Amino acid sequence: MGERPLYIVLIGAPGAGKGTQAALLEEELGIPHISSGDMLREAVAKGTELGRLAKSYMDKGELVPDEVMIKLILERLSMADCQKGALLDGFPRTPEQAKALDEALAKEGKTIALVPYLKVSLDKLLERLSGRWICRNCQAVYHMVYNPPKDDKRCDICGGELYQREDDRPETARRRLEVYFAQTAPLIEYYRKAGLLREVDGERAIEEIHQELRSLIEKARESKQNDCP
Ligand code: AMP
Repeated sequence: MGERPLYIVLIGAPGAGKGTQAALLEEELGIPHISSGDMLREAVAKGTELGRLAKSYMDKGELVPDEVMIKLILERLSMADCQKGALLDGFPRTPEQAKALDEALAKEGKTIALVPYLKVSLDKLLERLSGRWICRNCQAVYHMVYNPPKDDKRCDICGGELYQREDDRPETARRRLEVYFAQTAPLIEYYRKAGLLREVDGERAIEEIHQELRSLIEKARESKQNDCP
């Protein structure tokens, strides 16, 4: 029997560690890590029409409109490398986006396998965002206190230059967290009702969280394999 596609949605506030965990899981699972924030930042860097539109929202810490995000991510998911599944990070971010994703997958007889929710307190989130540095080249994430690069301001993996995201600055970071609690937190209930939510304590060491995610994914995989065809 071939393995069923594996769609995983990581949820949690900005700074909860979704990107860090998704990058660790990507290779092991053999499915692409799709970060809506990275896709938008790439569009901004290229100066495309989408990038210009997205920037006006991102600079304020607000969400890019649902219809724009839904089109962008569903197009990405329709590509060949996502047919075996995907690890979604940053999308969906509103119940409307979640419904659109469910409908698009359902049309192809697919479903979400698991929604790990990385739980981190507000104080910790602010502390993490303010110390976060990112590789300009490979997007690896560092924290100057908790997960510092070996060489000051250079990426351990590719040697790329590290930079601080503008929207991680205190005022914008605070607004992003407010937006998260108002617009994204309702997703937690949405996925809890669907029986897919698994709460994960996101305040532990990166490796400990990674191991818990791996075991949750293994369980979800086993129960999917046992589903009727
Ligand atoms: P992130 O890197 O996930 O924190 O995303 C950075 C910014 O991109 C957010 O603050 C939003 O402005 C925008 N963004 C990313 N993903 C979405 C989404 N699914 N819906 C709306 N806006 C998004």
